[in-house]
Amino acid sequence: MSNYDYLIVGSGLFGSTFAYEAAKRGKKVKVIDKRDHVGGNIYTYEQNGISVHKYGAHIFHTSDKKIWEYVNQFAEFNRYTNSPIANFNGEVYNLPFNMNTFNKLWGVVTPKEAKEKIAEQIKNAKINKDKPQNLEEQAISLVGTDIYEKLIKGYTEKQWGRKATELPSFIIKRLPVRYTYDNNYFNDKYQGIPIGGYTQIIDKMLSSDLIDVELNTDFFNNKVEYLEKYPKIIFTGMIDQFFDYQFGTLQYRSLQFDTKVLDCDNFQGNAVVNFTDNKTKYTRIIEHKHFEFGKGENDKTVITYEYPKSWSKGDEPYYPINDALNNELYNKYKDLADKQHKVIFGGRLGMYRYYDMHMVIKEALNLVSKELC
Ligand code: FAD
Ligand code: UDP
Repeated sequence: MSNYDYLIVGSGLFGSTFAYEAAKRGKKVKVIDKRDHVGGNIYTYEQNGISVHKYGAHIFHTSDKKIWEYVNQFAEFNRYTNSPIANFNGEVYNLPFNMNTFNKLWGVVTPKEAKEKIAEQIKNAKINKDKPQNLEEQAISLVGTDIYEKLIKGYTEKQWGRKATELPSFIIKRLPVRYTYDNNYFNDKYQGIPIGGYTQIIDKMLSSDLIDVELNTDFFNNKVEYLEKYPKIIFTGMIDQFFDYQFGTLQYRSLQFDTKVLDCDNFQGNAVVNFTDNKTKYTRIIEHKHFEFGKGENDKTVITYEYPKSWSKGDEPYYPINDALNNELYNKYKDLADKQHKVIFGGRLGMYRYYDMHMVIKEALNLVSKELC
């Protein structure tokens, strides 16, 4: 037996939050991660004085005051408000769908005019309006056919590698539809990005003397030994892999990031630009300096192209695909997980959920109150 109370597999936000809370309560913790850095997908590093979000744009947002205060103890946040723009074959629109978008599309000026335009398009669409059956029907019944065709269909089908008619409707419900001139992508009360990047949050969470971190270490290279040696394991990797894919493989969506440093002070004038046509291979370009303030003087800029990619074993599983079939399969793994008490599954991959950062912290704190209080 080791002298640790917990082995935590994965130093992402879930594992690190749990590690921090466990150490605060006097528990001795070992954290392993197969990557060569901590932080999982929220990891940021500095390049030419700019914080680079290595695994895609990360904006913290929540309406939960406790979670906002919790995360603010580890970093000071700026006042960044996510206002991506959509580029459809060179036409530029504001996101999320709001009066600025409607005005640019149709020349409408008042909310009443916009509502009438959308209602007319919904009326003429041949879809199941009372109970949308898939993402396409859900999208059209929210914003009509023009927005669906220009701003949703191409982006969504690239992002998920499936027809919008084969995707669950909840994905599109993440996006607000607003009849005000407000380009804030999120509805939440609190929003921002840590000044100096996200990695400092994880570094602080893992800084206790009671926590040892081992990088470049894959749980599956030593699974049997870990299970024997540690009294309790918090596992934030893929739940289906943990159980040797015995019921079949859960599906994920992967991504490829192509990051470039450019000799130019301002490449696209906005942190996030979505490319919503179906010909452009990438879904978005992010320009990292615009997530921060006061970086305009810097004569270099760092940009990242984000290419969606199908997932197969060995690829990074960025997004769980929470359709009915995968959720059913996940539930079988969850039943197995519930039948034993040594390993607790958490985070986006362990719980197979499309969780944002605030939800991951909340889940980790829920576990803390069950496990440690
Ligand atoms: P992860 O960050 O995936 O961490 C899991 C860790 O476990 C990883 O470090 C991995 O290397 C390690 N691991 C896995 N298997 C093993 C193994 N076998 N052995 C050892 N280590 C292992 N959320 C927001 O709130 N706002 C956003 O704007 C936002 N944007 C996003 C953009 C993209 C492109 C993506 C992919 C996600 C985004 N998210 C966003 C979600 C956010 O990234 C997650 O909520 C959060 O990172 C999940 O933390 P986690 O600890 O569950 O998982
Ligand atoms: N979406 C879209 N057009 C856009 C942005 C988003 O159709 O310009 C859809 C797409 O289906 C995406 C979903 O809205 O998967 C949720 O968007 P979000 O920005 O939350 O995606 P994530 O940050 O998870 O990649």
